[in-house]
Amino acid sequence: MSGVPLPISDKPSATAAGRSVSTDASSPPLAQVAAKLRSTMIPLLGELIRIPSTSGHEKPLVDHTAAWASQQGFICDLWETSEQAIAAEPQAKLRHLPLNGRPTLVIKSPTSHPADGGIMLNAHSDVVAAPQPERWRFGPFSGHIENTLMFGRGACDTKGPLVSGLWAMAIIQQAFPNGIPGGLHLELIPGEEDCVGLGTLTSVLRGHTAAAAIVLEPTEGLPRCASRGGCRFTITLTGQAVHGTVKWLGKDAIALARDVLEALAAMEKAFSHHDEALFSDYPIGRPITVDNIAGQGWQGTLCDQCVISGYFELLPNDDLTQWKDAFTQELLRRLQCHPGAATINFAEEYPGHRLEPTHPLCQYAHQALADEGEKLVWQGFNSGCEAGLRAVRMATPTLVWGPGSLAQAHGINEYVNLHEVEQVALRVARLAIHWNYQKSGQV
Ligand SMILES: [Zn+2]
Repeated sequence: MSGVPLPISDKPSATAAGRSVSTDASSPPLAQVAAKLRSTMIPLLGELIRIPSTSGHEKPLVDHTAAWASQQGFICDLWETSEQAIAAEPQAKLRHLPLNGRPTLVIKSPTSHPADGGIMLNAHSDVVAAPQPERWRFGPFSGHIENTLMFGRGACDTKGPLVSGLWAMAIIQQAFPNGIPGGLHLELIPGEEDCVGLGTLTSVLRGHTAAAAIVLEPTEGLPRCASRGGCRFTITLTGQAVHGTVKWLGKDAIALARDVLEALAAMEKAFSHHDEALFSDYPIGRPITVDNIAGQGWQGTLCDQCVISGYFELLPNDDLTQWKDAFTQELLRRLQCHPGAATINFAEEYPGHRLEPTHPLCQYAHQALADEGEKLVWQGFNSGCEAGLRAVRMATPTLVWGPGSLAQAHGINEYVNLHEVEQVALRVARLAIHWNYQKSGQV
C-alpha cells in the first residue's frame, strides 16, 4: 500500500522503547509489550473458556470479564437492557431469548482526545452448546493447552478473538499510559448465537458510539471488510395421520420433508450466482443450511406435522425482503404440494455489511499487516455476524477480524492457536494507534 503515511513510529513511549530487544524489526517495542502480556492474557482465555456461557447463560462470563477489566484499570459500563427498552425496535419482534439476566458490558480505555470517537471492538459473550462431551479429545470447557493450541467451546468463536481484543487494549494501555486519541474500547454483547444483532443493539441504544468498529470473529487472523446478511427460516409441513398399512389414505409430513431437503439443495445451487468479488473464493454463493428437523408420528403412523428450520445466508448487498420472497416462491414452486401443506416463516434476520477496500480503515489494516511483510487480499467474512448492526444503522466503518477459523467454530474439538491470538492483538493495536492518530490529525 502507498499513500497512507504512518503517523507515528511504533516506539510508543520511552519506557517501552527502553526495554526493546525483539526480532520484530518493524515495531520492536509494541511486539515486546504484547509478549510480556502473554502470562496475563493466556490464563484469562483459559478462565473464560471454563465458564460455559451458552446463549441465555452469559452473565457469569460477562461478570468475570468486567472484574478482570476493572482490575486492569479500565472503565466498565455493565448493565441489563429490558425488553421494554427495545420494544420500539424491529429486532424486538424477532424470536429471541428474553434479555432479562443477560448483561451487556462496555470496557473503555482512557483516551487523550475523547471527542475523536475511537474504535469499538465487538465480541459476543455466548457460545453454542457442546453436547456429547465424551466425543471431545479434552473436555469442552477445559481450556486444555496442547502445543500452541487451546481447546474448548468458544476457543475460536469467540473467546479467543475476545482475548485478542482485550490484549490489544492492554498493549495500548501499557505503551500509552494516557491513552490514544479516541481510544480503543470493547463491547461484550449477549446472544449472537441466538439472535444476531440484538446484543449490539443494546449497546447502541445505551449511547455507545464509535468512529470505527472491529467485530471479533474467527477470520483466520486476517481482517475482512464485508460480512453476510441473512435470515432464519422455519418451514412447517402439514400431513394427515393414518395407520401406515393404509398410507395412501393419509399424507406423510416426513415424506414431504424429504422433498423439501431436495428442493433446498437445488435452490442453494440455483441461488449461488453472483458478481460479489469479496465472496468469489467461497464455493457457495448463498448457503442454505438446515440445522433442525422435527417430526414424529405415533409408532407405525404417518407423521402429521414436520418442522424444518435453518439459515439462509446472503451477500452483503442483497435485498433481504426480495430474497425471502424468492426463497418462498421457489420452494413452493418446486414442492408443488397442495396449498397449506407447507408454510414458511422467517424468525430472525440480520443485515450484512460491506466496506470498500479503498476505505482508510481498510488501508490502515492493510498497513498493519504490511509492517510484518504480510500481503493481504481483501475478502468478506463467510458468515453473518454483529457487523451489520453498527455498519448499517450507524454508518460506522466496520471490519471483522480475529484468530481461529470457521472450520473449527461450533465443532467438536474447537481450538484456537495462541500465537494467532497474540498476533491479531498486536495488529489490531497497531491499526488502532495509526488510525486514531490519523483521525485526530495529531500526526
Ligand atoms: Zn461468533
